[in-house]
This record gives sequence, structure tokens and C-alpha cells, in this order.
Amino acid sequence: MTTTRFAPSPTGYIHVGNLRTALMNYLIARKSGGTFILRIDDTDPERSKETYVDAIKQDLEWLGLTWDKVERQSERLDRYVAAADKLREIGRFYEAFETPTELDLKRKKQLNMGKPPVYDRAALNLSDDEKTALRAERGDGVWRFKLDHQRIEWTDGILGDISIDAASVSDPVLIRGDGQFLYTLASVVDDTEMGVTHVVRGSDHVTNTATQIQIIEALGGTVPSFAHHSLLTGPQGEALSKRLGTLALRDLREAGVQPMALLSLMARLGSSDPVELRSDMAELVEGFDINRFGAAPTKFDVEDLYPLTARHLQSLPLAAVQSVLEGLGVPADKQAAFWDVAKENITTLNDLGPWWDLCRDGADPLIADEDKDFIAEAMALLPEGPYDSDSWGTWTAAVKEKTGRKGKGLFMPLRKAVTGMERGPDMSALLALMETVRARG
Ligand code: GLU
Repeated sequence: MTTTRFAPSPTGYIHVGNLRTALMNYLIARKSGGTFILRIDDTDPERSKETYVDAIKQDLEWLGLTWDKVERQSERLDRYVAAADKLREIGRFYEAFETPTELDLKRKKQLNMGKPPVYDRAALNLSDDEKTALRAERGDGVWRFKLDHQRIEWTDGILGDISIDAASVSDPVLIRGDGQFLYTLASVVDDTEMGVTHVVRGSDHVTNTATQIQIIEALGGTVPSFAHHSLLTGPQGEALSKRLGTLALRDLREAGVQPMALLSLMARLGSSDPVELRSDMAELVEGFDINRFGAAPTKFDVEDLYPLTARHLQSLPLAAVQSVLEGLGVPADKQAAFWDVAKENITTLNDLGPWWDLCRDGADPLIADEDKDFIAEAMALLPEGPYDSDSWGTWTAAVKEKTGRKGKGLFMPLRKAVTGMERGPDMSALLALMETVRARG
């Protein structure tokens, strides 16, 4: 039975980079009829905020990424205590007292000598008396996991065969001096106890995975399948990390991006399959294959979301947008016709408001100097509303007859006078929806 999890730390709003992780884990679970856990990694009481927990849930709900279970690390501290005890018992856990400055100095020395900056395990040589003295002087130390200096190997679902020399990695700190458990341990305990079978996360976690595999084995757990997706870059390949703050899911929602557009893009971006606009979650699940993703950094351009959003909206029936139209005040008997006209001319639902304003209030006319007399003549021929789908045809025929104009010279000035714009919907359909034409005077 497949079990996956999305494990955000509630220290900020989730962004497109987090979504990639969430979506891949979600799709793997759904594809195999398994379980998808939302795990809130809130072991850091200072940085974790309840508002972010709520926001993460809202964002996932907006996208339809429903979870089967929620877990919170802050409620599971006793499990981490038990795991730490076990690591101590089996001799894989040791207390170390170096200050950050001392560690920094050690690293610099190593680098100067051309050596990798790996923790030198000096704390392993401390006697009990020395530890007692250090504790009295500096407070509790940090607890480090003693890695087995072998190669750590796994077959990654995306990166393929990985082999990391444990001696090239520092023994990871699992408990801070203030007693706070760190993610590296908490995550392993949770993954094991919750029966997580597949872990997909960003390639910034590859070294964590190496150390976590040894911790899982030391605790007697089963190592899940790991897959590390590449990190997103901007359209030019530039690092996205600084801009991710502006790519929060809630900002995209605000900007009018549609869930299906966002999900369709993220389910394929960075894979060898083309991006295809999907109409529902079932199609998305069906078309997803983690093995098609590559290790190269993935270019993400937020602008790609808008054509997909527009296409998605064009495919929607009236029922899907009825509440939005009601919110705008479009009367029930005009909703179907308005949606037909508007959907071809919007990028996001945020663009609907101005179209409805135009229908209800008319527009400031756009009249070129040389067309002034022509428009005055034409407007005299336009009856008062209400208009219907024949009005435009009847009117333009009468104007043509009276003025002798035809083709673009006839239609374009009229469109500009009625809508204030050079482009837009089919005029027969639009005029039928308009309550007033301001150029009529
Ligand atoms: N809370 C961790 C993070 O956001 C989870 C990483 C993982 O998936 O294990 O980076």
C-alpha cells in the first residue's frame, strides 16, 4: 500500500516550488489508490505559525489536493524522545559542545588545507568529566548522529543510482542545545511510524536523504523509495529562490490563475512529456509518471499560467461560473449569453468585471476626428435599447445604406464608438447584451 506525505514547515506561505513537491506526492498516492498525508513540520515553535498552517490547508484545498490525514510534529515529541533514547542506547548518538564560532573556525581551517569541511568528531573523545565541565560552562550540547563511514546508496526515482560517501558528510545534529528536535530525526521517525513508502522532495534534500537512510536503518525502520525533483529556476535559468516569495499560491489565486492551469503545468514541467491542459484531477493522475522527470533544473515562467487559465475558462460551462456572474450582478436571464461572449475575451475571471461594466453602463466612445460626422449620422439611426441579436445587423445595414460606407470603414468606427475599444467580442452578441450605448448621446 502506497503512502506519501507532503511535509511543509508552517513558517511561510507555500509557493510554486512547494506545490511541485505536494503535487508529485499527491499524484503518486492517488495513482495507486494509496494514502496522502499532510504533515505539518512544526518542531520549531518560534518560526511556526498557526496562520501559516491554516493558509497551507486553504491553498491545498483551493487546488483540490485533498489529504487523507493530517499529522503534526509538535504533537509527536514523545516519539522523538524515544527514538533519541534508542540512538543513545545503541551508541549512535553523541553530545557535542562546540559553539557556532568554533565550528566555523574548524571549517575555515579545513578549507584552507584543501579538505572538505566535515565535522571532525572531536566530541567523541570527551571524557565524562570533560562533558560535565562543558555542560556547566556552556549548557547542554547538541546531539549528533554518528554516521557509519560507508557509502550510502539508493536508486532515486528521478536521479537514478546515487552513491554518497558518508565520510564526506558531517554527523548531523538531531537535537539542538535548547532541546529542540530537528527535522532530520523527526521526519525519519514519522516516515517510519506512518508507513510512508515514497518520499518525493527537492534535490536540496539529497544529502539529508543519505544521512536519514542511516538513521532509519539504525532505528530498525524500512527505508522508503526516494525521488528528488530538480529545483525550479526562472525562465532564463536564473535562481528562483529569492523570487519564490512572490510566487506564493495565494498570490497566483489572487491574480486569477485557475487551479487546473497551475496543476496541469506543474504535473508536467520538467518531465519529458509535454504540458497538456487537463480538465480534472482524474486526467491529471492518469497522465502522471514520476519516472519521466529529469534531473536538470526546471525553468518556470509564471506567464505560462495565463494562456492555460484562459483556455481552461473557455472550456467551462455556465454552471461553473454562475456564482461569479451573480457576484457581478449579471441578471439571470443574461448570464448564459454574457458568458458566451465574455469567455472568449478574458484571461482570468478578474477580467469579467470590466466586460459586465461595459454591458451595463456602456463605454466612453472612441471616435477619430475624421469619423465625427459619420458617427453622429450612425447614432441617429441606432434605436434605444433593449437590443437583441438582430440589432447590430439591422443597424449597420441602415448605416451602410445611408452613408455608403462598408467593410472595415463601416464596422471599425462603430465598434470603437460603441465599446471604446478596437478589439473585442462579436458585435452582434455584445450589442444584444448592452443596456446603453453612450455614444448615442
Ligand atoms: N519540512 C521539510 C521541508 O519543508 C520536509 C522535507 C521532506 O519532505 O522531508 O523541507
